[in-house]
Amino acid sequence: MEQVVIIGAGPVGLMLACELSLTGARPIVLERRAGPSDLPKANGLGGQIVQLLDNRGLLGRFAEDSPFFGRPPGFPFGSVPLRFDGLDDVPLRVLMIQQPRLESLLRERAAELGVEIRWGHEVESLAEDPDGVTLTGRAFEPRPRSGPGFELRARYVVGCDGGHSTVRRLAGIGFPGTTDDEVLRLGHFATADTTHVFENPCYDGLEPGWNRTPHGRLLLTSLREGAYVVGVKEKRDPGEQPDRREEVTPADFAAAVRRVLGRDLPLGEPIWLSSTVGQARLAERYRTGRVFLAGDAAHLFPAGGSALNVGLTDAVNLGWKLSAELAGHAPAWLLDTYEAERRPVGAHTLAHTRAQAALESQSGENGDALRGLLAELFAYDQPARHLAELLHGGDTRYPVPGPLQAAGQPHPLVGRLAPDLALTTAAGPTRLAELLHQGRPLLLDLAGGTAASGGPIDVVTATTADPPADALLIRPDGHVAWAGAEGLAEATAAWFTPASA
Ligand SMILES: Cc1cc2nc3c(=O)[nH]c(=O)nc-3n(C[C@H](O)[C@H](O)[C@H](O)COP(=O)(O)OP(=O)(O)OC[C@H]3O[C@@H](n4cnc5c(N)ncnc54)[C@H](O)[C@@H]3O)c2cc1C
Repeated sequence: MEQVVIIGAGPVGLMLACELSLTGARPIVLERRAGPSDLPKANGLGGQIVQLLDNRGLLGRFAEDSPFFGRPPGFPFGSVPLRFDGLDDVPLRVLMIQQPRLESLLRERAAELGVEIRWGHEVESLAEDPDGVTLTGRAFEPRPRSGPGFELRARYVVGCDGGHSTVRRLAGIGFPGTTDDEVLRLGHFATADTTHVFENPCYDGLEPGWNRTPHGRLLLTSLREGAYVVGVKEKRDPGEQPDRREEVTPADFAAAVRRVLGRDLPLGEPIWLSSTVGQARLAERYRTGRVFLAGDAAHLFPAGGSALNVGLTDAVNLGWKLSAELAGHAPAWLLDTYEAERRPVGAHTLAHTRAQAALESQSGENGDALRGLLAELFAYDQPARHLAELLHGGDTRYPVPGPLQAAGQPHPLVGRLAPDLALTTAAGPTRLAELLHQGRPLLLDLAGGTAASGGPIDVVTATTADPPADALLIRPDGHVAWAGAEGLAEATAAWFTPASA
C-alpha cells in the first residue's frame, strides 16, 4: 500500500509532493499528461506563498531569473489602480515567474527529494474502505489513450487535479458557485521587438494594459522578450460551453479583436491561443475520509493573482499534517484542521476576487463612475494597506484547535504565519526562515530557559530585538501554534504528540 497518492502534477500537486517528502512521507504523483506542460498560464506568485518559499530556502532559486521580485509598486484591484509606493509597511511581495518555469523548478526540487512522478496515468475511479483508497485508471505512455489499466492502493489520496477535478467528482464533493458571462481569449504572439508593437500606428489610442471599449476589454502587454500578449474579453455567446476549453483559431481570435475594438490589429505569428471563462467556486468540503482536495480542485477564483498563492499554501498546510499522521505522531484531530483552516481562506479569497471581478466587468458610465470613486478612496493609505493585506493573505489566522481552546484568550500571534524575525543564536545571526528549511516543528525560546522539549521538535534558543513572546511554538508550515511560556507545555503536547505517546 502506498502512503499518499497525489493526482495531478500541476504546481499544487508538485508542491504537496515536495512538502510530504521533506517531512518524511513517500508520495507518488499520478499525472495524465505524458510529460511536463508548457502552457503559459500564471505569470507570477504573490502573497504569503513568497514567505513560505523563503521558509523552505527556495526563494533564491525561484527568483533567480525572475523579471521582478519584491514589493510591487501597485496592483490593479478589479482594474482600479492601487498604489503602494507611499507605504513602507505593506507586506505584499510578488515573484514574477512564468508557470512552466515554476513547475520546472518544483519538479527539480521534487526529484532532489526523491518524489516519483508517473506521467501518462489518468485516474478514472476511486473507492474508499476503512484501510485505504483504491485508485484505478489508464496508463498511456505515450498517447494515444490505449494503454493498460492500473490499480493502486493508498492510505491517503489528494486531488490536485485542477478545476475539472475527477477526484472531487468521484468523492461526491459539490463545487457550487457561478460562471462568468464573459469569455477571455488570450493570445501570445511572436515579435522581434516588443516596443514596435506599441509604437505601431495601428495600435493608436490603445494603452499597455487593459483598454475598455463599448463592446468589451482588450489587454496589451508583454511579459518576455520576443513575445507580446493580447487578451480580448467580451460577453459570452449563451450557447458557448463554459466548461469546455474551445480550440481558438487565429481567425477566431482576429474576429474577437474586431468585435471588441471595431477594427483589426496586426497580430503577427501566434505562439499560443486560448479561451477561458472565469468561475467562482468553492468545494463544499476539502476532505472526505481519506480523500483530500487542494488547489484549483478545491477553489476557482474569478479574478487573477490569488490562485497560486492560495493553492500552493493549501499544499504547505496539508503536507506536514499527512506526514505526521503517517509517522504516527499526529493528534486525532490534526487532519481535520486542514479543512477548518484552509476552506475559510478559500471562501475569503473567493469574496474579494468576486468583488474584483464585479468591479472590472461593470460596463458603461455607471461602471466608470464606480471605479473612479474607488480610485479616489484607494489613494488613501488605510484602504491601500487594507487591500494589500487582503491580497497578501496577511489577515489569515487559523482557529485554535478544540483541545487548546480552554486555555483562554491566545496570544495575538497564535494561528498567524510567524514573522521572519531577525535572530541571534549561539551559531550567530540568522532569520527565522532559515530555521524552517527542514519542515520540522520549532520551539523558539526567546527568553532563555523557557522551553525544553525534544522528540520531533527542534528547540532553538535565540534573542531578537523586541521579542513578541518568551517562546514561539512554530508548526512546519510556519504558522504559530502557540506563543508565550504559559500553556506552552500543553500546546506542545497537543500539537506534536510523540510517536510513543
Ligand atoms: C491564462 C491563465 C492565467 C493565469 N494566471 C494566473 C496568475 O497570474 N496568478 C495565479 O496565481 N494564477 C493564475 N492562473 C491560475 C493558475 O494557473 C492555476 O491556479 C494553477 O494552475 C492551479 O494549479 P493546480 O496544480 O491546482 O491545477 P492544474 O495546474 O490545473 O494542474 C492539475 C493537473 O492535474 C492533471 N489531472 C487532471 N485530471 C487528472 C486525472 N484524472 N488523472 C491524473 N491527472 C489529472 C492535469 O493534467 C494537470 O496537470 C492562471 C490560469 C490561466 C488559465
